[in-house]
Amino acid sequence: MTHSPSNDHIDNVLHETRVIQPPAGFVANAKVTREEYDRRYRQSLDDPDTFWGEVAGELTWMKPWEQVLDWQEPHVRWFVGGQTNLAYNALDRQVERGLGDKRAFIWEGEDGEVRTFTYSALLSQVKRAANAMLALGVESGDRVTLYLPLIPEAAIAMLACARIGAVHSVVFGGFSVSALSDRINDCQSKLLVTADAGLRRGGLVNLKANADDAAKKSPGLEHMLVVDRAGSNPPMKEGRDVWWFEALAAASDEHEAVALDSEHPLFVLYTSGSTGKPKGVLHTTGGYMVSTYLTMETVFDLKDDDVFWCTADVGWVTGHSYSVYGPLLNGATVMLYEGAPNHPDWGRFWDIVQKHKVTILYTAPTAIRALMRQGDEIPGKYDLSSLRLLGSVGEPINPEAWMWYARVIGGDRCPVIDTWWQTETGSIMLTTLPGAHPAKPGSAGLPMYGIDPAIMTRDGQELGPDEGGLLVIKRPWPSMLRTVYGDDERYKKSYWGEIPHVYFAGDGARRDADGYITVMGRVDDVLNVSGHRLGTMEIESALVAHPSVAEAAVVGRPDDIKGESVVAFVLPQGGQTVDPAALRAYVTREIGALARPDAIYIADALPKTRSGKIMRRFLRQIAAGQAIQGDTSTLEDPAVLDRLAEMSAV
Ligand code: ATP
Ligand code: MG
Repeated sequence: MTHSPSNDHIDNVLHETRVIQPPAGFVANAKVTREEYDRRYRQSLDDPDTFWGEVAGELTWMKPWEQVLDWQEPHVRWFVGGQTNLAYNALDRQVERGLGDKRAFIWEGEDGEVRTFTYSALLSQVKRAANAMLALGVESGDRVTLYLPLIPEAAIAMLACARIGAVHSVVFGGFSVSALSDRINDCQSKLLVTADAGLRRGGLVNLKANADDAAKKSPGLEHMLVVDRAGSNPPMKEGRDVWWFEALAAASDEHEAVALDSEHPLFVLYTSGSTGKPKGVLHTTGGYMVSTYLTMETVFDLKDDDVFWCTADVGWVTGHSYSVYGPLLNGATVMLYEGAPNHPDWGRFWDIVQKHKVTILYTAPTAIRALMRQGDEIPGKYDLSSLRLLGSVGEPINPEAWMWYARVIGGDRCPVIDTWWQTETGSIMLTTLPGAHPAKPGSAGLPMYGIDPAIMTRDGQELGPDEGGLLVIKRPWPSMLRTVYGDDERYKKSYWGEIPHVYFAGDGARRDADGYITVMGRVDDVLNVSGHRLGTMEIESALVAHPSVAEAAVVGRPDDIKGESVVAFVLPQGGQTVDPAALRAYVTREIGALARPDAIYIADALPKTRSGKIMRRFLRQIAAGQAIQGDTSTLEDPAVLDRLAEMSAV
């Protein structure tokens, strides 16, 4: 193979060959077998109208659709002409099916308080919240921003919006005043739902104070609905601010869900901002409902008595699709936890699993690596035997972290699924099905039903087995984003304009002979060393495989001879010291001299988005000795960059 710096190939350098068969005990009771997956996947591509019509038909529609799919590239409509209501399907339908007394949410506050909501109780709260919003003048199609801690009221407010046809925009409660006001103004919200404060690592995060400051910069905002979470007694502005509990107490608990067009906007959600300025991704009702309903049941092998815990905040798409909508559409019991994984100590997750008998855990590589850094003793102190399935989402999971998760948390008894998807895709796109497919650590796996991926070059040429290139999706799927809010040009250009006639995800990937897709990192982060294009995932995975390293990020630094040289930022595994010479030798042995880091920074933290993703764009600037530039509003802890900039590499 010849290498030219400008092509879109990404070199395949990591030779990970482990294949982990699903545990026999799991396979015996699994909902989907391999034959079933093959059959339904085939049908979903060969006859999408029948496939999607059948799935959608399992839900309640107030008016049936006339056409399953109307694709006018790059704009799509699903279940055209149909009318439905997502909150109705998530709640009323469950009560009608006899699940009224089943637990919908088990919520644990950071301070240990536990609240549970049955489906009936949740429905009644949502009806009251819907009426309270209507009383504040919110109309169908209006935007409502939610700026809340992870408390049940966050989900109640989302469902209330969905019930009346208002469009929610959840802004993570850890965001700053300016990030909040930018997002309020970008989608011109009328109402802000917030709380006095949230609890975080034992302290209070004063959300209402931030909301007040943001409101000064948000002229279109009319009202604030304020949940009293912490009893901190913030000032309330006469005529503008209303206490949530008072408004709900005054509201009726009778409310009939509104029939909404299938393409009625459901929510706007800003992407994590790993690669640039966040985009306001718009999702609509019918398609998003059908995809989250289907993937929740299929991918997580969901059973009636499961306690499903997705640790993501509702401020991210994972929290939307798999803490709220997907599970409730299936009548599942959902665990919600308000606080930090290390409060009061690093055993908190395992304490929650043990106490509430969580059966399915869905978390992110950033959390898995952080927990792994603390060693095996902490999880060893808890009874994790209720767990039967583990999932990962958000970043590539390094094979060593995968193995740790399977062994130490899953007790070699639970399958691990690595699910690739995006804010834009709305639901899981690539994964293995836990009872149907063996797992290959580091590889997300196979496409979900209806998803038609390919690996291409920028001019639309499909690449062969094991060739790294650009990950694309060749046809629309129901939970696909419909546009970038207020910027359809950006939608057309970023997603359907990069490569002719396909959806471009922005990630690099390769597909093996079994059809498994391995995500190799973001295309923006690809390194170009001596004409070889290297994805970040493989070099980072080799670094993390060394016993002294818990987490790693690599970036390219301009180099006169090689074009770029590899710069690595590594976090030592708890109690270990990193020997740079040994680490270089290890990378050389594992993946070749090409990937050997020229410079290594031994750090105590990496710059991450508030959703926990490594932000390599700033590391590139540090590696090159440049001043930090670009949107830093989504950065979790800006001080990390200052510390790194003062460090010298070894
Ligand atoms: P922005 O688009 O603003 O740069 P972002 O891409 O981090 O931010 P999200 O939509 O939260 O915003 O994240 C989607 C991205 O996360 C994917 O494009 C991919 O890079 C990464 N990702 C998610 N899940 C996986 C996974 N299982 N394996 C590899 N990468 C993943
Ligand atoms: Mg993205």
